[in-house]
Amino acid sequence: MGLIIYLDGKFVNEEEAKVSVFDHGLLYGDGVFEGIRAYHGRVFKLKEHIQRLYESARHIALDPGLTQEQMMEVVLETCRRNNLKDAYIRLVVTRGRGDLGLDPRKCPKPFIFCIAADIQLYPEELYERGLELVTVGTRRNAPDALDPRIKSLNYLNNILAKIEATRAGAPEGLMLNKEGYVAEATGDNIFIVKNGYLYTPPAHIGLLEGITRNTVLDLARKLGIPAAEKVFTRHDVYTADECFLTGTAAEVIPVSQLDSRPIGDGRPGPITRRLISAFRELTQVDGPEIFPRKE
Ligand code: PMP
Repeated sequence: MGLIIYLDGKFVNEEEAKVSVFDHGLLYGDGVFEGIRAYHGRVFKLKEHIQRLYESARHIALDPGLTQEQMMEVVLETCRRNNLKDAYIRLVVTRGRGDLGLDPRKCPKPFIFCIAADIQLYPEELYERGLELVTVGTRRNAPDALDPRIKSLNYLNNILAKIEATRAGAPEGLMLNKEGYVAEATGDNIFIVKNGYLYTPPAHIGLLEGITRNTVLDLARKLGIPAAEKVFTRHDVYTADECFLTGTAAEVIPVSQLDSRPIGDGRPGPITRRLISAFRELTQVDGPEIFPRKE
């Protein structure tokens, strides 16, 4: 049985969920999106995802035409219609149909769709062993050209980096910004641990301000782990005690090596492990319920 998709104000079967070839999301990557997870009947950090979606939309001067509350309801109802308690959710707002020119004024109405599907988990073994990173040559988009804080449909920068990493035989690639500072992985944020301190680069150097990243910073503070946003180089990663990536799909995943240099002893460290379990606990209780119990 196919999925039920939210498409432009209606719920339709997967086969009927079609997008126009004149949609500027398709023609130009002109649109914004979110990747969201539901765990245990709750949509994790839904408010934060919707807020980031609206901030991305605001930056590109796109009015989704729904309130943030209505957009949250779209996500919850899409899960309900598919009877999903655990899901990976893709929410997309495009500029809509226009002509073949660039001008967004020719696109009168945004186009919204939402897909909720069964999740494909990363193998548990990766969380035990950690993943290998390589630095890629493709630099993360400069914020003064296309700010990576916009979660836009234009993901070619990341895709080029992903191609480089996988062709080099690594599952993930580390991207630097144009000054050579560590920015993020192709679809995840990066953290390092040194002498008991947790560090992640600040968003203004050019990276997506991940919801998982911000959650991990909050959890660290709650657990009494000192944490700060700091600009750092690959040297700091090579010489770190621990390193991990964060993202909605990957959650918190240890990094065992960068550019063939083992990090620490090459195995997931104690702070990484504490944060993985604190994060997993939080996913079970955070966010609005998909099927609220009637009083
Ligand atoms: N960076 C990039 C480039 C991403 O695509 C993602 C995934 N959305 C992340 C970081 C992690 O963000 P989040 O924790 O919000 O999923």
